[in-house]
Amino acid sequence: MAPETQAGPAGAALPLPPMKWDAWGDPALAKELSADIKGLLAAALGVTGDATPGPAADEVLLQPSRIAADDLKALATAVGETNVSAADADRLPRAGGKSTPDLLRRRSRAPQDAPDAVVLPGDEREIAAVLALCAERRIAVVPFGGGTSVVGGLDPERGGLTAVISLDLRRLDRLHDLDETSGEAVLGAGLTGPAAEALLAERGYELGHYPQSFRYATLGGFAATRSSGQDSAGHGRFDEMVRGLRVVTPAGVLDLGRAPASAAGPDLRELFLGSEGTLGVITAVRLRVHPLPAVKAYEAWSLPDFATGSAALRAVEQAGTGPTVIRLSDEAETMVNLAMTEQIGGAPAVTGCLAVTVFEGTTEQVATRHRLTRDTLLAAGATSLGEAPARAWEHGRFNAPYLRDSLLSAGALCETLETAASWSRLPQLRTAVTEALTTALPGALVLCHVSHVYPTGASLYFTVVAALGEDPLTRWAAAKRAAGDAIVTTGGTITHHHAVGADHRPWMSDEIGELGVRILRAVKAELDPAGILNPGKLIP
Ligand SMILES: Cc1cc2nc3c(=O)[nH]c(=O)nc-3n(C[C@H](O)[C@H](O)[C@H](O)COP(=O)(O)OP(=O)(O)OC[C@H]3O[C@@H](n4cnc5c(N)ncnc54)[C@H](O)[C@@H]3O)c2cc1C
Repeated sequence: MAPETQAGPAGAALPLPPMKWDAWGDPALAKELSADIKGLLAAALGVTGDATPGPAADEVLLQPSRIAADDLKALATAVGETNVSAADADRLPRAGGKSTPDLLRRRSRAPQDAPDAVVLPGDEREIAAVLALCAERRIAVVPFGGGTSVVGGLDPERGGLTAVISLDLRRLDRLHDLDETSGEAVLGAGLTGPAAEALLAERGYELGHYPQSFRYATLGGFAATRSSGQDSAGHGRFDEMVRGLRVVTPAGVLDLGRAPASAAGPDLRELFLGSEGTLGVITAVRLRVHPLPAVKAYEAWSLPDFATGSAALRAVEQAGTGPTVIRLSDEAETMVNLAMTEQIGGAPAVTGCLAVTVFEGTTEQVATRHRLTRDTLLAAGATSLGEAPARAWEHGRFNAPYLRDSLLSAGALCETLETAASWSRLPQLRTAVTEALTTALPGALVLCHVSHVYPTGASLYFTVVAALGEDPLTRWAAAKRAAGDAIVTTGGTITHHHAVGADHRPWMSDEIGELGVRILRAVKAELDPAGILNPGKLIP
């Protein structure tokens, strides 16, 4: 018998910060395409018109909620009536993440899937109660942070269960503790990047994690996806900042990470970093923090070609000269960035590849780090462009996703993918991925940059721009499959920082082997025996 359904508490509207449901970010910051970009699109891709607009929010057809009235009532008892809703207005913004396929699906006039209800717990006790009743009533649970997943990590999959809820963690928004002696802060998992930094800044501290999704993504999401920020050369990846974690699982609560280092067996924090909501709900993170930098310095560089540029970045990283940011665009990305942002202003024209460096710390630290990096880059063939392009990059660094929406509206598909490998494999990896993408999408523009560096290797971040054409979802899926296969056969990781979700799951056994997959399944069976947590993600 089909479960009894209802629309939920009438008119419930669970507040969200401004974020367009079918596009990126704050509607007030939407970007018009400049004449330069329109010219580039017409010349390179033959794109001249506008795409058919999608439905307005109140015209979107959602599949009706499948949650039973009795289940909704039980959830309301666990978290309070005002923190549960099955209204379409609350389901729609939690229907998925923000990949280009997500945005294309949101623009569809066909009925769309969405979680059957949205639940906002206020603390661990409420989360434990929600998980217990969902296990008992066979309801799937998708933990929801900032909603910025680009790998299908928030797809409302039911996994054969009766219904699926979105467990929105925004109420876990406190700074619980700041230990200035140790340089550690305990923060709620639902805090967004800006909210966490504001709380720390009031006390003179900073986390320094700035992914491009910074304005919306949450600390819990960063931990659950092993996020990497643009300042990770200086401050490390998010997983490197995590000193401790609290996790509520259907089998009980874990409090992990006792000391700065430990020899007490395998580190169980690692099981939950990157667990993508499949093993438990991260409720709080203890993070390494540092005093706000006293000084910053900026310098941009031109490198004659990508190979010389990569070698220059490797020299800097292996010498440990200490920039906070260091990144390198290939020739195509350098050219497109110039057309897009006109960022170079009065600085010399860039030929070849643009590299950006930023330095932070005390006056003395910044002077030393800057000088050592400068000497290394100059010796490796770089030419200084001064500070203006690097400042311009920092100023506009969170704005690029708005351009993706304008490109989609103008009839151009724009999507990104990323990987990492050791330095010796990087050239081969870049060639293989570029060839896979341009073979699958003839005429596409493929841009690449080195986004994060390590002593032994680096990540490559690709941006693909192609004409939207007929059936862009199927064409992109074929391109993504070809790129994923090229990545695993040339020794790259299927994801350096976007995580696995539903989209990279087909490559998980290439990544960790069949035995590795069996280990993850065994852990999941122990922690989540009813299989309620984020079905269809991460674990094949
Ligand atoms: C425009 C754009 C730019 C981006 N730039 C970057 C970048 O520079 N670097 C980078 O690393 N990523 C980037 N991303 C990807 C994305 O922002 C990250 O994966 C981010 O860490 C997700 O955080 P979130 O709070 O939005 O999580 P969500 O998207 O809400 O969730 C992501 C996954 O984590 C799970 N999850 C969320 N919170 C919890 C929790 N508390 N406990 C357990 N599971 C949880 C969810 O179930 C889901 O599987 C970008 C995405 C977009 C759209």
